[in-house]
Amino acid sequence: MRSKKQPRELLLKGGTVVDPFRKEKYVGDVFIKNGKIQKVGDVNYKSSMTQVDCSGLIVTHGFCDIHVHFREPGREDKESLATGSQAALAGGFTRVCVMPNTNPPLDTPESIRFIVEKAETLPIHIHPIGSITKGQKGKEICEMVAMRNEGAVAFSDDGIPVSDGEIMRLALEYAGMIGVPIINHAEDCCIRKNGVMNEGEISTRMGLTGNPDIAESTMVNRDLELAQLAGSVLHVPHVSTAKAMNHIRRMKKENKHLSAEVTPHHLYFNDEALVEYDTNLKVAPPIRTEHDRRALIKALKDDVIDCIATDHAPHTIEEKERTFDLAPFGMIGLESCFGVVYQTLVKESGMTLGELIPKLTVNPRVVMGFQPDLFKPGIQAEISVIDTEKEWVFKKSSIQSRSGNSPFLGKKLTGKIQFILSKGIITEIT
Ligand SMILES: [Zn+2]
Repeated sequence: MRSKKQPRELLLKGGTVVDPFRKEKYVGDVFIKNGKIQKVGDVNYKSSMTQVDCSGLIVTHGFCDIHVHFREPGREDKESLATGSQAALAGGFTRVCVMPNTNPPLDTPESIRFIVEKAETLPIHIHPIGSITKGQKGKEICEMVAMRNEGAVAFSDDGIPVSDGEIMRLALEYAGMIGVPIINHAEDCCIRKNGVMNEGEISTRMGLTGNPDIAESTMVNRDLELAQLAGSVLHVPHVSTAKAMNHIRRMKKENKHLSAEVTPHHLYFNDEALVEYDTNLKVAPPIRTEHDRRALIKALKDDVIDCIATDHAPHTIEEKERTFDLAPFGMIGLESCFGVVYQTLVKESGMTLGELIPKLTVNPRVVMGFQPDLFKPGIQAEISVIDTEKEWVFKKSSIQSRSGNSPFLGKKLTGKIQFILSKGIITEIT
């Protein structure tokens, strides 16, 4: 990757502009002056402009991932805000929300301020999500108003489910008052027990403890009912099962304040991929069956699922080299995201690019209350330039993260980020 300051006048010439906010697609130019959008459409070239030929490429909004783990503070050996930013850029992301399960967790106004201040000098926008409960222990609710005032954009104990329904209800009520979403990692711990993969035929054959789909769907159903009662905004992360998705589909007809996300890995893999015991496929919630995978793709097409979020979760090689039972949950996902979802959804499942792009741009920004119209003149440029026809193999050298725990290594993907504009910097992805 090569990053440099954007030239004062920059013309992205002759690309296919995909505007996910206005739902338009046309061949045109994007003119950026002093880092800000000047004009999108037809722009006459002047000699003062630095021109980048974008013919044959897609020019669209920078992606927004509302679910990443950057491990700072505490485990900078896995990822830091700085290395996570580079991974984001490589994947076409100009904006991310970091989950609070750091060490210590982001459970005070001071810890939220730490992230906001540290992110100022980094090349992407990073927004902290605050913990719902102190120490993510599930007992005592954090000072949500003060944390919101410092920049927390949502609240979650992600990684750990909020098991106590009364705490979840209170959290939803408080979040409703300050107008931010609650995001619960929905898995019933008593049903999940120590399951390490999806419970089914494959887990039995492999001799591994299973985690049944109802561990997710029963808690999602509880959360949907609590959110409706509280009249608050609930965002359901990393939906993995057809059953949970059906609950969301049903409740979305009654409740306008609901949103949901799915990860690239739940769209790409089914549990048969685990037969080699690759610990990089050990994730929470687990990779499910082909039936679930197909239901997730359909829900995305139907807009029952609003966005794609990577759940980028870096771990050291040492930790991931433990046995399947002992290795930690999670995989990195930022760098491989677009190649994976373009291939799975557009190439193999009949979704159009115009349907896919909003799931990575406008929709997640709307969920978090960010500006969704990135082609509005005067806005600081956040742009991804993509070669959707490019076939490439995901390699170690494709990874910018400090960790390398990806099951996509060696996989052939379609669609690759070429350039990205963010915070006055232009980065060429090589
Ligand atoms: Zn989670």
